Amino acid sequence: MPASLKKPLLIDQFGRTVDYVRISITDRCDFRCVYCMSEEMTFLPREQILSLEEIYCLAQCFTELGVGKIRITGGEPLIRRGALDLLDKIGHLPLLDELVMTTNGSQLSNCAEQLKAAQVSRLNISLDTLKADKFKHLTRTGDLNVVLQGLEAAIKTGFKRIKLNAVILKNRNDDEVIDLVNFALKSDIDISFIEEMPLGVINSHNREEAYYSSDEIKADLDKHFNLEKITETTAGPSDYYRIAGAQTKVGFISPHSHNFCSTCNRVRLTVEGRLLLCLGNEHSVDLKSVMRNSNNDTELIKKCIIDAMAIKPEKHEFNLKEQPIIMRHMSSTGG
Ligand code: SAM
Ligand code: SF4
Repeated sequence: MPASLKKPLLIDQFGRTVDYVRISITDRCDFRCVYCMSEEMTFLPREQILSLEEIYCLAQCFTELGVGKIRITGGEPLIRRGALDLLDKIGHLPLLDELVMTTNGSQLSNCAEQLKAAQVSRLNISLDTLKADKFKHLTRTGDLNVVLQGLEAAIKTGFKRIKLNAVILKNRNDDEVIDLVNFALKSDIDISFIEEMPLGVINSHNREEAYYSSDEIKADLDKHFNLEKITETTAGPSDYYRIAGAQTKVGFISPHSHNFCSTCNRVRLTVEGRLLLCLGNEHSVDLKSVMRNSNNDTELIKKCIIDAMAIKPEKHEFNLKEQPIIMRHMSSTGG
């Protein structure tokens, strides 16, 4: 059903309508990206995570509350056993307008077609560098060629749109922003640059020292490309530009330098069943307990989701100078 015909049911105390949910279906990953995880990670035991059936039930509840867009994420969503069947079920929910996914691309060669069949319309694929040795360094365990093959398979499959996500760190990959945009142009896909966020303790670098702002990236790109600002507003955090004469859009996600909270339309569901109301705050509701203690009473679950809107914070405050206040890593948050 088109969003314009839906009655918004999830409205927070600042008048923002929530119609978008990001669902993390696993906290595990085959990569260990330096900005996302520490080298040694402890993952959640099976009994603490939502079953696939529970995730589906919650997804259905959200759509019945006016949520039209669901993003499946993680961890790496495609390494959870049963992920494709779950996506297929969620993708066919009658009230859902759009199912999208964020992935590191490592499994895409084998399943791009199945994702399309599951109604996944758009993919965000993380790619921070085009150099194999740097890719290994930044992901610790990843193989650039495997990801590039996955990306190629996805492009051939014909999704509505594919976007690269690149987290840029000073003196690590800031020298590649032009190459990354050229690569997106050549592949006829979009790209967003993301400022690193201080989520969880990491041991590879000092986040303040590695900060490279969207303004710096934009200034680097302006020397090589004619970037035209896209004025129509999207509800997302990206500030978008189009490369003159091309389809490729270039986005900037700037949690530090350009706060985007006033238009926030989303909440997150962690794989532990926590409804997280803001990426940069800990306000949350334990939907797993509500589900398990009520024998899946969907009316009660929906009431809890509606009530949770009252505690959605106005905005996030990230401070790179201090130890992270938010101890959860992005991988368990669902980026
Ligand atoms: N594993 C998938 C992937 O990498 O695309 C999905 C989950 S990942 C947590 C989602 C996005 O969050 C990725 O684009 C990743 O680059 C980004 N990310 C992870 N940690 C981050 C951090 N500390 N700051 C900013 N972005 C981060
Ligand atoms: Fe895994 Fe994605 Fe985090 Fe990298 S950013 S460690 S691929 S969850």
